[in-house]
Amino acid sequence: MPHRLSKSRFLSGLQCPKRLWLEVHRPELVHWDPAAAQRLAQGHRLNAVVQGLYPEGVMIEAEGGLGGALRATAYHLQASPERALFEATFSKHHVLVRADVLERTRGGLRLTEVKSAALVKDYHLWDCAVQAWVIEGAGHPLDSVVLAHVDTTFVYPGAGDYRGLLAHQDVTAEARARTPEVAARVPALQSVLAGEMPKVAVGPHCTDPFTCPFLERCTPPGPEYPVTLLPRGAAVAAELLAEGYADLREVPPGRLASPTHEWVRRVTASGVADVRPELPRRLRALSYPRYYLDFEAIQFAVPIWAGTRPYEQLPFQWSCHVERAPGVIEHAEFLDTSGENPLRALAEALLAALGETAPVLVYSGFERQVLRTLAAHLPDLAERLEALAERLVDLLPLVRAGYYHPAMKGSWSIKAVLPTVAPELDYSGLGEVQDGIGAQGAYLKLIDPVTPPDRSAALAADLRRYCALDTLALQRLVDRLGRG
Ligand code: SF4
Repeated sequence: MPHRLSKSRFLSGLQCPKRLWLEVHRPELVHWDPAAAQRLAQGHRLNAVVQGLYPEGVMIEAEGGLGGALRATAYHLQASPERALFEATFSKHHVLVRADVLERTRGGLRLTEVKSAALVKDYHLWDCAVQAWVIEGAGHPLDSVVLAHVDTTFVYPGAGDYRGLLAHQDVTAEARARTPEVAARVPALQSVLAGEMPKVAVGPHCTDPFTCPFLERCTPPGPEYPVTLLPRGAAVAAELLAEGYADLREVPPGRLASPTHEWVRRVTASGVADVRPELPRRLRALSYPRYYLDFEAIQFAVPIWAGTRPYEQLPFQWSCHVERAPGVIEHAEFLDTSGENPLRALAEALLAALGETAPVLVYSGFERQVLRTLAAHLPDLAERLEALAERLVDLLPLVRAGYYHPAMKGSWSIKAVLPTVAPELDYSGLGEVQDGIGAQGAYLKLIDPVTPPDRSAALAADLRRYCALDTLALQRLVDRLGRG
């Protein structure tokens, strides 16, 4: 009997037959990154909101097994034709699909696939196509296929009113155009599952449309400094590999056209960090007091605070180390723990702590973007927030132009640079929060009313430690690189 496919397995097989094979035969090897778990949680929240938009809708439960779900779907299509079905379940050719929303229309049935993305993407259309192929194959003609995705212009009015959150796009023609290929691919993927693990080399398909959960397992061990570390250098790395260069240190001088690539090659081959004289000069010229600032922010597919839009970067925390004079350092911080809209309290505390003058040192353009968001939400504070944005000094372009260490391996992110200039500041020694994704996850747990108070307190402490380390890192960076 052919292997059973689901819609997500079909999409995995579309990305890579080896991925499908591993998911089915070696599920214990799956390694999901935290961002994938957050995407999944956003999707569940969105589905719950969508179901709230159809008060008469019927949920087809699967707790009693998929056979029960198939029977319940058949029953409700007959007995409750006027009611929308959630997770209506169909099977054909050993492919099983569960549809987000299925409604009866004058012409037949309308299938609505709900996506937390802001735009329709190609793999969404395949998702719709496989569902349409199964549902129609099971004897239920579809009148239309619709993709409902998040409309980022929606402003949440509050009180659970999510009308207008979703933009609906009719993709009937696009889904139908793909069904012949679905019909051809299904038996091919079932054959893959019946055989030995396919041999597929890693390549661009491993991260498109999503990072494959087997990427670490599939990536063969390589040299310590692979040519693929060249920043924005995928094309030249492919050329170098074709020429037989796997290790950047083997590439001859003059081979690389980009000055940055050549610099990275030369420093890597020398094994010694390079600081260009302009960088320490610029850093030493910064006046005191110096404010080192970092925000942590969250994005919601489904906004939870009135007046905010889907996927806005909304800050909930900041840390600021203030260096009054060389080596004389104070610390200020803000963290919302209430779960209420934190923007006003956060902005007022920030303006009070950062004074009116002196440079505010950040690493990337993120803080400027957050200040603009705050100014847009808080018109009465906008002038002062914009004045604060004028004081920002972005260290990233300065460091990118003036410092490289072989251990940075082609990256100027603060996490790559810091261990090379201040190894005593170690993120791995922190608690549960060690990066931005971890901070978002901790914040969501912290404001969740079901989280016990002692757990919330521990998460808040981890968040404070993490954000404070980020700004202390900036102070150390400026101090160490300023010495030349
Ligand atoms: S990492 Fe790449 S090659 Fe390996 S299973 Fe995933 S998509 Fe396929």
